[in-house]
Formats: sequence, structure tokens, C-alpha cells
Amino acid sequence: MSDQKFQAHEIRDRIAINYKYSLGGQSKFFIEVMNNKKILGTKCTKCGKTWMPPRINCSDCYTSAEWIEMKQTGTIQVSTIVWYTTSAFIKAIPYAIGYIKLDGAQTAFLQGIFSENLVPSKVKKGSRVKAVFLKKREGKMTDFFFVPEDEYETWINKPEYEGGA
Ligand SMILES: [Zn+2]
Repeated sequence: MSDQKFQAHEIRDRIAINYKYSLGGQSKFFIEVMNNKKILGTKCTKCGKTWMPPRINCSDCYTSAEWIEMKQTGTIQVSTIVWYTTSAFIKAIPYAIGYIKLDGAQTAFLQGIFSENLVPSKVKKGSRVKAVFLKKREGKMTDFFFVPEDEYETWINKPEYEGGA
């Protein structure tokens, strides 16, 4: 280990890796998040199942799926509060992560959940959440996160965040 200082809850993770990762067919999801603050899922052209995270082909019937715009509200399916994290997220602790099923989706995806008053009851199963976007987006999953619906106005009025499309 070097002599770099780490905070008590920070996992020692300083690694520099240069790589290029191609998202292929999933690229549209990240481009829409970055440019238009839209969350896209896919819908199977045969059975109609709505996939979020999007799948280019339906995993149930192996038919191609088409892009659809998802609602930006949803329900927490399961969550946990994060106390130990990497340097990228150390300033945010404590925060929650959870599987969120967006309204209209039939599958759930993992995403960060922030709260002004983060206690377990705020992020319990069945809690309603809404997406908040960073003003500086880079086409990454971390370009948006979820907040309890009753905190949405507070979060989108912070200088670094804004509401979705
Ligand atoms: Zn299908």
C-alpha cells in the first residue's frame, strides 16, 4: 500500500486501468440517459414482456425486443444501506442500493437510492422512488439515481441535479 490516506469506511481500491468497453446494442440506453434524461427499456415483439434493464432479445422467448421509454417512477423490491464503499462513492455514504421495478416494467434493476434522511424505513420494500439526474452526465449508470418520491423536489432543486424528461 502507498502512503495515501483512506477514510474509515473506504475500501482500499486505487487501481488505474485504461480500457475501452463497447456496449454494442445496449448503447442506446446510455446515450438517451446522457443526452435526453430518458430511461429506455425494451419490450419483446412476441410476448410483450417489458425488460428493464433493457435486453435486445427477450430472454423468455428469444425474440427481438424494441426500445420503449420507461416511466421514471418505480417501487423498491429489495434494498440495503451501504456503509463501506470504494473511493468513487465515499462522499455519498451512507446511501442505499436497491432493485427497483419501474412502473410498467416486469423486471427490476440495481441502482443507487439517496435520501435526505436515510433510515431503513425510507428504503424498505414497496417504497416509491423517482429518478434524479446529474446535470453533468457522461453516459454512465451513475448519471442518475433514485430518491424517495416525497424528496424529489428537494433533490432536483440542488445545483448539481435535475429532473428527468
Ligand atoms: Zn418474449
